[in-house]
Amino acid sequence: MINYCIRIGLDNNISTLKRLSSLHYKDLQKYQIQSKYKLTAMSQACGRLAQMKRSIREGKRPKSPFVTKPYLISCYGFKLNGMLLSIPGGNRNHVNIVLNQHTVDKLSEEGIQPRSFTITPSSVSISVRKEVEEIKCQNVIGIDRNLRNVTIAIPSGAILYRTNKLLSIKENTTHVIASFRRNDRRVKNKFYSQKRSRRTRRVQQFLHKISKDIVQRAIKSKSMIVFEDIKGIRKLYKRGNGQGNKFRRRLNSWSFYELQRQIQYKAAWEGLPVRFVDPKRTSQLCPICGERLQEDRFQHRKLWCNNCMKSMDRDVVAALNISYKGWSRFCHPRGLSDEAVKGNVENFQPLILGVDGSKLQVQK
Ligand SMILES: [Zn+2]
Repeated sequence: MINYCIRIGLDNNISTLKRLSSLHYKDLQKYQIQSKYKLTAMSQACGRLAQMKRSIREGKRPKSPFVTKPYLISCYGFKLNGMLLSIPGGNRNHVNIVLNQHTVDKLSEEGIQPRSFTITPSSVSISVRKEVEEIKCQNVIGIDRNLRNVTIAIPSGAILYRTNKLLSIKENTTHVIASFRRNDRRVKNKFYSQKRSRRTRRVQQFLHKISKDIVQRAIKSKSMIVFEDIKGIRKLYKRGNGQGNKFRRRLNSWSFYELQRQIQYKAAWEGLPVRFVDPKRTSQLCPICGERLQEDRFQHRKLWCNNCMKSMDRDVVAALNISYKGWSRFCHPRGLSDEAVKGNVENFQPLILGVDGSKLQVQK
């Protein structure tokens, strides 16, 4: 039914729900289904058409709007009765689906409103809404994302989450995919998609631990979360930039956005603000005095401040600078006064807690 609506929309150049439903609602008479589902099918079709139009407008290659897998979605006429999800079925009857205890518990939490359900051949999902109040923040947590670690600056120091394992997951997947030899496109595509989705799941799972820990720390210390805005960083690693293949592959498969996505939605659910700052010079200035830092000649990945006579870890420096930038931009009453962050960190001792992301135990 969605594909039928999309075809109507494409033929008549309609992508708004209002026009589609007022002009072509009658055309859906042939479907023997409750009218609630007809409306959602139209709205799904419009969403997909609008998405296609948007990509054309932005100069991207549009994806096909058509649906390839069966699913049923609706936001009308469904009810939750204890353990049962009852949805409108044929002949004005209801179809009941038994939910498991975890889902029931989650749905009965305070302030949760169920909004819609989606059923696919293998899953049932219920999307919910919650009103949250934004937490008034007193501190800032700055997050610096790197290829081999994620460093956060919290009020009491810095924590470094090692993410080396992500690199090996990705390298291994690349090698396994490259080792495929059979000359059969169908088998090959299936093999590729299996390996790729396994990689995605493993990377996501790994990052979920880190993002959960960061958000919990932020809630505990009432902190705003600040990222550097590194949109467009892939442009630095294009073909022909004079970098090696291996280096480019590593940096182009770096999942810097996934952590941000997870933290953004987890923080939004708790009412924590997430902000972005300009990454300019975050790893060049001293977080203590604001002086320009130099490469430490004797230690790998360390920076030397001539003014403080101190050597500092470059990831910690970046995380601190991000959190100070965020602090002066979003928390300070005067707003951003200067790039450097003099004055507010006299007794600062960088304390580095190393955490292996893969061994991270998140307390329940
Ligand atoms: Zn300094």
